Amino acid sequence: MEENYLYKGLREKLVNEIRRKGIRDEKVLEAIRKVPRHLFMESSFIKFAYKDQAFPIGSGQTISQPYTVAFQTELLDVQPHQKVLEIGTGSGYQAAVLIEMGARVYTIERQKELYMKVQMQLPKMGYKPSFFYGDGYQGLPTYGPFDRILITAAAPEIPSALIQQLRTGGKMVIPLGGPGSQVMTLIEKTGPDKYTSREKGWFVFVPMLKGKE
Ligand code: SAH
Repeated sequence: MEENYLYKGLREKLVNEIRRKGIRDEKVLEAIRKVPRHLFMESSFIKFAYKDQAFPIGSGQTISQPYTVAFQTELLDVQPHQKVLEIGTGSGYQAAVLIEMGARVYTIERQKELYMKVQMQLPKMGYKPSFFYGDGYQGLPTYGPFDRILITAAAPEIPSALIQQLRTGGKMVIPLGGPGSQVMTLIEKTGPDKYTSREKGWFVFVPMLKGKE
């Protein structure tokens, strides 16, 4: 119980920190305030759970920095009950934040071990997205169209299957670029074969890889 108060206090500090860094959407800040990030971390990193940093989660992958999660979520402009596709489940932290925003979340992971682990752990915390093991480049053709699509790995280009699965009027947030750094890009689908694209600053993600393992 005491421990929970401790984590709650640390989360409040984290919320203040990312607010200072520029996140304004109160619903996003509230979601960060609610999700127990320490439960998504490897045991050796738990003490750092409320630092605004990315950390290893195994299989060479990372749990994104909370500021980055908040930034992507704010750009995505998620509304309650919307159908949201996430590429790169990883630790499941971003999926939990989307669920706190009221979204119906479909999430894909290409690494079997991470997929197995998150599928066991997330529901125990009360977060129940639909989990898929597969290649995010293909999206989920039979479950679309989606109101929102969020890519949490660095994509060399906009995957055409994902644009197709985005509803007209829908939004996609995708870090575009090769290794090193990527430009956060907000895509808005304006017609069946039309979209606009706006650049929103530089970030660093692990690469979005083809196929699954
Ligand atoms: N959203 C995650 C961040 C994970 S890092 C979180 O909140 O913790 C990016 C994740 O994308 C990694 O787990 C990586 O394995 C996964 N990934 C990379 N390429 C992918 C692809 N083509 N399809 C699905 N997942 C992919």
